[in-house]
Amino acid sequence: MPEGDTVWNTARVLERALAGARLTGSDFRVPQLATTDLTGWVVRECASRGKHLLLRLDGPADGSRWTLHSHLRMDGTWRAYAPGERWTARPAHLIRVVLRAPTATAVGYHLHEVALVPTDEEARLVGHLGPDLLGEDWDPAEAIRRLSAHPDAAIGPALLDQRNLAGVGNLYKCEVLFLRGIDPRTPVRDVPDLGCLVTLAQELLAANRGRWTQSTTGSLRRGQTSHVYGRRAQPCRRCGTAIRKEEQGERVTYWCPTCQPGTTT
Ligand SMILES: [Zn+2]
Repeated sequence: MPEGDTVWNTARVLERALAGARLTGSDFRVPQLATTDLTGWVVRECASRGKHLLLRLDGPADGSRWTLHSHLRMDGTWRAYAPGERWTARPAHLIRVVLRAPTATAVGYHLHEVALVPTDEEARLVGHLGPDLLGEDWDPAEAIRRLSAHPDAAIGPALLDQRNLAGVGNLYKCEVLFLRGIDPRTPVRDVPDLGCLVTLAQELLAANRGRWTQSTTGSLRRGQTSHVYGRRAQPCRRCGTAIRKEEQGERVTYWCPTCQPGTTT
């Protein structure tokens, strides 16, 4: 499940594999870029904004600066393979982009919104996003302002709305609300301390940077990495009550009705 930390990790992997490399070939399996060829382009760096990946390149010899944008949403991923290594991460029919360099080949699977834009126009693609939890410009006050602008919205979906803050996926949404004792259906206006909530979300994502196992409990042992996420009908680790799972908006949410009291159904 790509969340902000997963995408951040992916950006680091791609940057380590490709930064400074001159591409020896490319293959775009998306209609809008089917004829694009990045041979000779040089990879500068790779950044993440929420679930968006921004691979920045120098165009061939003319000094132009470009960004290859991809949105990972729920199912997209990038992998870096060594030369000659088999591409085994996902079925081949899910491949959308291949970037070849002398030292590594980057393969993007199930990518969305693949686009190549001048780097100074990145805002067209990611400018709508709220403050990035893992960005150098993380701004909790701005995140609180954006959340507060829709006081009647339920806090669960509001945390997932990347226009409010960028990087929280379903796992962190469920976990941070549990840790703060807030029912996911609570209107934003009734959440006691939005500042604590967004700060805790940022801390949870930051703690998981650099590894692929996401944990909000402090344990990396299988089956013990979350308080409520993915634990329907299992006993709450804190109080023993059965964890509940329900659809909320377009997503499911998990919560403990005892530790997160609120709206009754
Ligand atoms: Zn509980």
